[in-house]
Amino acid sequence: MSSQTSEFVIVGGGIYGSSLAYQLAKAGKSVLLLEGGEIASGASGGPGERGVRANRRDTRELPVAAVALALWQKYQQEFEHGVGYRRIGGLQVFDVPYGYREHEVRGQMEAMALTQTRLGAPSELLNLEQTLAREPELTRSLIGAIYCPNDGVCDHTYATQQFAAEAIKAGAVIRTGAKVTEILAEGGRATGVKLASGETIAVGSQLILTANAGTQTLLNPYLHAHEKAPLWHLMPQMIYVTNPLNKKINHLLSHAHRKLAVKQIVDGTLMLSGGASVSYTAEGLWKGSLSSTANNLSDAIAAFPFIDHSSFVKADASRVETVCVDGIPVVDKPQALENTLYGYGWSGHGFAISLGITKFMSDWLIQGERPAALAPFTSARFTQPLTFVNEALEGL
Ligand SMILES: Cc1cc2nc3c(=O)[nH]c(=O)nc-3n(C[C@H](O)[C@H](O)[C@H](O)COP(=O)(O)OP(=O)(O)OC[C@H]3O[C@@H](n4cnc5c(N)ncnc54)[C@H](O)[C@@H]3O)c2cc1C
Repeated sequence: MSSQTSEFVIVGGGIYGSSLAYQLAKAGKSVLLLEGGEIASGASGGPGERGVRANRRDTRELPVAAVALALWQKYQQEFEHGVGYRRIGGLQVFDVPYGYREHEVRGQMEAMALTQTRLGAPSELLNLEQTLAREPELTRSLIGAIYCPNDGVCDHTYATQQFAAEAIKAGAVIRTGAKVTEILAEGGRATGVKLASGETIAVGSQLILTANAGTQTLLNPYLHAHEKAPLWHLMPQMIYVTNPLNKKINHLLSHAHRKLAVKQIVDGTLMLSGGASVSYTAEGLWKGSLSSTANNLSDAIAAFPFIDHSSFVKADASRVETVCVDGIPVVDKPQALENTLYGYGWSGHGFAISLGITKFMSDWLIQGERPAALAPFTSARFTQPLTFVNEALEGL
């Protein structure tokens, strides 16, 4: 075992591990973060920006998103050189898709705006004229939008590196190139971790797994069958195109009925995403397809006709994300390791809520009680309801 024992050992240096290391170190805890590659070498790194949005979010994530969005703004202002966050507002645009009635879509818009506002994400309904006043290059074949003024975008790689740097300033130790291969346990507690190099590292108090796609492999030997979350891997694709007409897209833009998100990054380039993904192969990491590119481009042109003049720059789908069957994460402790906390299954939109989740993970670690904000994310949600079903069936 290594000589110095840290109270909190975190595995994985993406936005979750780095911001949690910062929170714990700021609270005066001794923290060691172990990252297998470099900081931000997973889903929290790569080109462009990530959307930081509450708009269109699962209602169970909205309260934590409201906290996260406030924290993005706070750290942008507090850290020297910020975290690369720009609060530009988010627009979710609506048309009437084939097979739907206009009153249904308008009803959905009103219900979503109301629920989002109630759960902490102020949301305004816009008619077509108001939508076009905010985003003049949009197609006219829309009925309106939901506007969230607190939404924005963030240079995710920079933010992750900034949290790691601030964590070090606050006293955390970060080791890169330190891939964890095994959790060592005794008496129902994690006592240490083993690295690929053969070195073992002691866990003083708590072990935290924020290794995203790497978490499952480490946890699996310790999870009971009923705790194993229904997760899989996704490789979301980002497409970059030029902006030859020098048009401006002002918001983080998403389309309610198309797999489309559009951002204009700081150099003017347009970044297209929103649901296109590529295959995960055993040989290489990604295998693209013409259809994943073509669909995304045609959806983008349908929303912003001027994009038809753009040239293709590149597609990137090199980062693996974990997706959970119900589209929200699992943040929990395994029954077999009472001093271990893990979080994964961010389902393609975990960056935005990261600061809220790690704030509450840090509260849980320090105070010893699961915060109410994290209650929706238990692993028990996939099996517990069966208790009621069985009771009801027995009574029939
Ligand atoms: C292309 C793409 C676009 C996205 N767009 C958005 C968006 O617009 N908005 C949004 O909110 N979210 C978005 N997401 C999701 C978001 O980026 C992720 O949910 C988030 O970054 C996950 O952070 P993380 O820290 O859990 O994981 P990661 O950033 O993947 O970090 C995990 C780290 O653990 C390390 N690791 C793994 N195994 C081990 C091990 N055994 N030992 C040591 N270290 C290990 C990895 O090297 C990695 O650095 C997107 C994701 C992708 C891939």
